[in-house]
Amino acid sequence: MRTATIGGFDVPVDHFIGGEWVGSPNTFESRSPLDWDAGPIADVARGDAAAADAAMAAATEGFKTWGAYSPAERSEVLHRLADLIEANNEEIATVETLDMAFMYASMRDRLVARGAANFRLYADLIVQREERHWDAKNMDNTVQHMPAGPAVVITPWNAPFMLSTWKLAPALAAGNTVIHKPAEWSPLTAAILARLANEAGMPAGAFNLVQGIGQEVGAALVADDRARRITFTGSPATARHIGKAAAENIVPFTAELGGKGPLIVFADADLDQAAHRAAWQYDDSGQICLAGTRLLVEESVRDEFLEKFHAIVDGFVLGDSREDSTDIAPMVHPDHLANVDGFVQRARANGDTIVRGGNIVEGTLHYEPTLIEPASNDSEVVQHEIFGPVLTFQTFQDEAEAIELANSTDYGLSALVWTTSRERAERVGRALRCGLVWVNTFLVRDLTAPFGGCGISGIGREGGDWALDFHSDVKTLMILSDSAS
Ligand code: NAD
Repeated sequence: MRTATIGGFDVPVDHFIGGEWVGSPNTFESRSPLDWDAGPIADVARGDAAAADAAMAAATEGFKTWGAYSPAERSEVLHRLADLIEANNEEIATVETLDMAFMYASMRDRLVARGAANFRLYADLIVQREERHWDAKNMDNTVQHMPAGPAVVITPWNAPFMLSTWKLAPALAAGNTVIHKPAEWSPLTAAILARLANEAGMPAGAFNLVQGIGQEVGAALVADDRARRITFTGSPATARHIGKAAAENIVPFTAELGGKGPLIVFADADLDQAAHRAAWQYDDSGQICLAGTRLLVEESVRDEFLEKFHAIVDGFVLGDSREDSTDIAPMVHPDHLANVDGFVQRARANGDTIVRGGNIVEGTLHYEPTLIEPASNDSEVVQHEIFGPVLTFQTFQDEAEAIELANSTDYGLSALVWTTSRERAERVGRALRCGLVWVNTFLVRDLTAPFGGCGISGIGREGGDWALDFHSDVKTLMILSDSAS
């Protein structure tokens, strides 16, 4: 097994296929956004068609064992994996921070634990799942949930560890084997997870990891007709490619895609809290799909809100993700930094007003927290996901206009609403076209609730039983009453 030493930890850099660490003829470089110019921190196996084929063969073979485990047996292994994730918190947090610049304190205090919680949730749900039985038409009817087979799990570079557990846990709990293809900009904590899955006692072929480039090994995996489920988190553009492959092989497919969420502030809101939350949409340099990136503020409180907002953002420290004193981390990759800057420079050229920020911080991968007042609701910065520290600011006169603006993009992942009126919270919350609405709060979510998007924000729902349903083939068994005893 080849490894790279990252922050003092030896991290595997090969694929994990059929219970073995295996390499590929080629590798790709992984660099740290915290010190980009220092060169690669790891040379990671670059999967090809042969790696995809080997992983699919292993997952197909492994399904004979893992798919035959009882729910209680699977539950036991998944709880052991959750224990191991908790015990290796420091390693996972350190490696994720170096690999993609996620804030170390957030990883250490929240996100590693959340990854473990995802495995615990599904370890519990799978044993609580009851089969439905009923008598009708002189038959005893039973609904059985069968494991479906190998599941291809493709994940993005932002919050890579936590997001991958959110997809892997229900697939494994349902009895499917998995082939995980993490993003090439943040491949390393996925390798730690594969190692821990092995230590937890998963049989060979149940948990497979293939590293590499999306258009290469990712495309090969989703095109393989042995895959029985494909679950993807990433951009709408990639989802279109994967959806075509899924359609070709008639494979169920879920997609958690981008967002362009509104953050709506009514005049009756607690403006201190609303401004605080709006400012913190710059968290993780705006690389959060759920972020409320379109600030929609009632006209009568515009100035008061903006004053509070700017005062908070003025105090933000842009720095190294390892330091607790840092508020805003660097962006993941120079190419992404350039993408984000491209949006802002086009906005400038198109007559939108750059209210604050709008520049790369010289010599770093930081982008200044940026606020743009668009010339119109059709502006590119209003209608397209930027996935960086760039928010837009618009005002509305009344509730109807707020709802109309909120629902005016092709996306529909999440929305935030700030109001002290319970009636308004219900009314506006119900009128928004998206998968999640938070009123006077953000990000906290009961893991048993459904999660997903409308429009180009996604297909299908994850969370709780929704993900178990997706990963199961459902059968109705009908036995003529009193015909067999
Ligand atoms: P991306 O679509 O570029 O890549 C995601 C994954 O797909 C990567 O692992 C990549 O290697 C792989 N991939 C790329 N091309 C492929 C192909 N042809 N076939 C198979 N796999 C392929 O997305 P990204 O830039 O890594 O992630 C950012 C996007 O993810 C943003 O749009 C963000 O909003 C979205 N996202 C959504 C959620 C959610 O839950 N809705 C969560 C996080 C991120």
